Amino acid sequence: GSAIGILGGGQLGRMLALAAARLGLKVHIYEPAAAPAGDVAWRLTTASYDDEAALRAFAESVDVVTFEFENVPAAALDLIESLRPIRPNRRALATSQDRLSEKEFLQGIGLTVAPFAPVSSRHGLDAALATVGAPAILKTRRLGYDGKGQARLASAADADAAWQAMAGADAILEGFVEFTTEVSVIAARGIDGAVAAYDPGENVHEDGILRTTTVPATLSLSLAADAVLLAGRILNALDYVGVLGVELFVTPRGLVVNEIAPRVHNSGHWTQTGCIIDQFEQHIRAVAGWPLGDGSRHSDVVMENLIGEDMARVPPLAASGAALHLYGKAEVRPGRKTGHVNRITGPAR
Ligand code: ATP
Ligand code: MG
Ligand code: MG
Repeated sequence: GSAIGILGGGQLGRMLALAAARLGLKVHIYEPAAAPAGDVAWRLTTASYDDEAALRAFAESVDVVTFEFENVPAAALDLIESLRPIRPNRRALATSQDRLSEKEFLQGIGLTVAPFAPVSSRHGLDAALATVGAPAILKTRRLGYDGKGQARLASAADADAAWQAMAGADAILEGFVEFTTEVSVIAARGIDGAVAAYDPGENVHEDGILRTTTVPATLSLSLAADAVLLAGRILNALDYVGVLGVELFVTPRGLVVNEIAPRVHNSGHWTQTGCIIDQFEQHIRAVAGWPLGDGSRHSDVVMENLIGEDMARVPPLAASGAALHLYGKAEVRPGRKTGHVNRITGPAR
């Protein structure tokens, strides 16, 4: 049998481990902090990303290494890569870790992104505003998630406050996209170059955090095809192996790419209930070098995240017949995702 190493032990690692177990594959989780995924894995290493001996032992215990956490230090990845393949590859990870290189890459392969400009000083923000215009969003280039590390500017008068919110971090200014809806495409590429995409889902965010994903998305057939084709273009350009999430804005002038995530994605959790092969199994298949599975959708689904105090709703949800997924997190905190629920709303339309 073969074993897969996963960097990061959060809920995504946990669901990857469950999918791998179903395929008879062993999973070794590497996580410096609390690891919900450790409960269901073959092995768990709790060590820092600076611990060379632990990293070496981890890599040597598996055949291939993947990640559910994107901010593993480069030195740790260098060490791992000297011992085992990392899938998806380092370039895909580096490109999506930095919002500036991500936007430049997307634009470079001919896709539409919001107008953007790098910002590394208060003065630079004025210059960026002059090219990008207002309203706009200032975002840290690295480490942001769930809308953290962002500040909105209604006009140039908000520049002082927005720059202060970056706390000195390098940033990027993005023009505000007037979108009608947000959708995402979860797509996979196998080691043989085969590409498979799930149907686009429609996403609703609250306070910068994903609240629900609904499939099918309200999207014309031609935009749905565009979404899937552009995901394939991204996968091929990165020589990608594994599952990728692509977040898109739907506008009257077509699709604008917001960001990409080089991993399984929260907006793909509906696939657990809507498809025979879900995004977690698809990712495991790809990184293990197996053929991709059939990701076609048999049902319409609404996925709802359980965030913070939503845990109080678990007993009625458990009684409702919907598919409940809880991550086994030790602590409930405001704004923290603790589970999700998938509800079938009918046969696939
Ligand atoms: P995630 O948890 O998805 O990684 P994130 O912190 O990387 O989130 P973004 O996806 O950049 O954040 O932004 C969060 C949300 O803010 C978007 O889904 C969208 O609703 C809104 N948003 C972000 N950028 C823009 C933009 N340029 N124009 C309009 N709305 C935007
Ligand atoms: Mg993001
Ligand atoms: Mg996002």
